Amino acid sequence: QPIHAPDNLQPLLESILQQALTVNDGKVADYIPALAEVKSDYCALTVATLDGNVMSVGDADKAFSIQSISKVFGLMLAMERVGDSLWERVQMEPSGQPFNSIVQLEWEQGIPRNPMINAGAILISDVLVSHYSASKSALLSMVRGLCGSEEVYVDYRVHESEREHGARNSALAYLMKSFNNIESDVEEVLDHYFWQCALTMSTEQLARGMAFLANRGKCPHSGRQITTHRDSQRINALLSTSGMYDQSGQFAFTVGLPAKSGVGGGIVAIVPDYGVICAWSPPLNSYGNSARGMYMIRELANNLGLSVY
Ligand code: GLU
Repeated sequence: QPIHAPDNLQPLLESILQQALTVNDGKVADYIPALAEVKSDYCALTVATLDGNVMSVGDADKAFSIQSISKVFGLMLAMERVGDSLWERVQMEPSGQPFNSIVQLEWEQGIPRNPMINAGAILISDVLVSHYSASKSALLSMVRGLCGSEEVYVDYRVHESEREHGARNSALAYLMKSFNNIESDVEEVLDHYFWQCALTMSTEQLARGMAFLANRGKCPHSGRQITTHRDSQRINALLSTSGMYDQSGQFAFTVGLPAKSGVGGGIVAIVPDYGVICAWSPPLNSYGNSARGMYMIRELANNLGLSVY
């Protein structure tokens, strides 16, 4: 059904941002110093519609660590590269466990529950490392192309500290290797995974970069068909069931949009055939989702009646 959004969303975004700034629960991710040092009062909200309009409030041009949101870009590239055989190595079921859980991986013989949890994203990194001679530049040039900007970078300090504090992710990767579900060198795979987590982007860049998922696989800015309509539907389905950590069910219930968040405080929500909403604020709730980001996306989606259900 058509979405009846006002032509000028700016005042609505402004009032939602002001309300969000009064939300003071949540705690900035502190598992690595480079994230712990980010100012907790950053707050941004962007809406990019398929007609090319980009509306923002707050710190929408400040690049932040996209962390788990990078899992969406990695998945897209791997799906394009290997097709349906991917689904023999990773499942498509919600995990019902924390994003870095290891127990399920042992029970399920090294086949991760879905590509949005760490084990699944490490598996995807293996696919990229195995199928590209330079997996990092393949991913980076894809992301830059999607954003229509060369100004997307990797924070080398974050990359480095992810590696230093990566014991649990290493355990996931080596466990999968023991079940023969990692083809390449484990350290190289982990390096790719830590590197992609360290990509930094602003809400405006992310909203543009994910717009193809709202547009049946076609990038509305360049006109390029990035992925098939079917694959964009599949990615959105995975985001709906597994994109918001262990709060995905509640997010579907209260917001009703495919979405992915990261521990840097970013959340991207896809509104099929309309556009993308992206929010950022570093303090996280107990599930690892941005507390103000959740507030802003829920308010906007409910206000405009955007639920896909
Ligand atoms: N780099 C983080 C990790 O692998 C990603 C966490 C996230 O954003 O979910 O633990």
